[in-house]
Amino acid sequence: MKIRNPRTGELDHEITPAGPAEVGAVAARLRAAQPAWAALGPAGRAAVLERFAQAVERHAEAIIAALTIDTGRHAVSRIEVEGLPRTIRRWAARGQQLMAGLDGGETPSAVPGILLKGRHIAYPLFGAIAPWNFPVVLSHIDAIPALMAGCAALVKPSEVTPRFVVPMQAAIAEVPELAAVFAYVLGGAETGQALIGAVDYVCFTGSTATGRKVAEAAARALIPANLELGGKDPMIILPGADPVAAARLALRASVVATGQACQSIERVYVPRALAEAFLAELTARAAEVRPNWPDINVGELGPFILAAQAEKVAAQIDDALARGARLLAGGKPEQLGGGWYMRPTVLVDVTADMAVMAEETFGPVIPVTVYDDVDDAIAMANASVYGLSAAVVGPQREAEAVAARLEAGAISINDGALTSMVWDATNSSQKLSGLGPSRMGDEGLLRFFRKQALIIQTGQPLPLAAYAERGA
Ligand code: NAD
Repeated sequence: MKIRNPRTGELDHEITPAGPAEVGAVAARLRAAQPAWAALGPAGRAAVLERFAQAVERHAEAIIAALTIDTGRHAVSRIEVEGLPRTIRRWAARGQQLMAGLDGGETPSAVPGILLKGRHIAYPLFGAIAPWNFPVVLSHIDAIPALMAGCAALVKPSEVTPRFVVPMQAAIAEVPELAAVFAYVLGGAETGQALIGAVDYVCFTGSTATGRKVAEAAARALIPANLELGGKDPMIILPGADPVAAARLALRASVVATGQACQSIERVYVPRALAEAFLAELTARAAEVRPNWPDINVGELGPFILAAQAEKVAAQIDDALARGARLLAGGKPEQLGGGWYMRPTVLVDVTADMAVMAEETFGPVIPVTVYDDVDDAIAMANASVYGLSAAVVGPQREAEAVAARLEAGAISINDGALTSMVWDATNSSQKLSGLGPSRMGDEGLLRFFRKQALIIQTGQPLPLAAYAERGA
């Protein structure tokens, strides 16, 4: 399988996709090592994970270099890789606290004479299927808490961005206890399907369309599937907000990582009284944003990681313009040195029937709707098949009241897309944006346990006679 370089457009890397036999063999190896991993206990696993964090730090520059080629961006790659040891340490510490009081207690049952004890047993083999937009973050975000819980973990990164795996494997190899229970398999859809057939629990991050296929395969295998899917996140700006600050916020929350983020702001609702000042600032600041070409160390925007994404975003903009939207900034993908880039694109006079307002865009596009009544803004924000996250900007109390009426899993107040950096707030995606327990907060680890109940009779078991027919 040839892999495209998003900056040059060249097919300069190759992987051999793992077929079902290879996936099965890796899964069997991990399964065989998992009981010893679970037997280490929380403190033992935390100690191994600490050595993993140190190994990632030792290999950080090589991982960053590979991820930079995978994604065509350097600063975000550095943030991703430098954040990984923090994630590992956070789960190692929090996991020990969570597991400390989990088992060992006993409670009387509501049924007289019965005593209850329980055990939490980690699913033996956890599996993750990750997308290409934040390859390192999203390949490990669920695997680390699963490992801390006591599972072995098998991860399939996206075939679009597989280069970081080689230096990650070098880091993992330095921690043999971890290497025994943590592995990657490379490949596309077929490898993903094989993984689902080989694991006991699957976490999928990706598009809603693929998420349905993963859910179907998981249903056939009768394993739980956690799905983290697409979004069409709205930002509502309230009349009490500062329009200039709100415009800067909307720009950042919408175009970071070239808008290739599930929690990107993809629709903005602004009150009429603030619209002029808001749009003036947004358009001026949007025009200043630079692609990171020719120097990767200068500029705010990387290329589209997937070339087809540029066409998809362009088609949405063309559709909006054909239906009467007006363009205030940006508008077209441009090819620079073989990569596809797009400057921040600001659209007004947008309507709900336009693809750019209904479908996930995954590009640096900011469609702005002017509203007169906040109830209308809330209704428009909720009129989406997605319910991932949202943002409200304005006086805090008022913003909280509006947030409570939004159909989304996590709402940023006076900021945008905060779920990209705040990982300890439990939240459940709504509608077509996901399914299953929260990956954030304590639930992110606690979901990886099966519960075993010990139901202890301390009195006299019922005799068969208690069930005898008693006549009419
Ligand atoms: P995608 O759905 O195309 O692919 C995701 C992964 O699924 C890849 O590893 C791919 O190889 C694998 N895959 C493809 N077909 C499969 C199949 N039939 N069976 C099993 N696995 C299969 O997603 P993408 O284009 O890589 O990523 C972008 C999408 O991810 C966007 O929709 C975005 O919103 C979403 N996303 C969601 C979150 C979140 O937390 N909710 C985070 C990041 C990205």
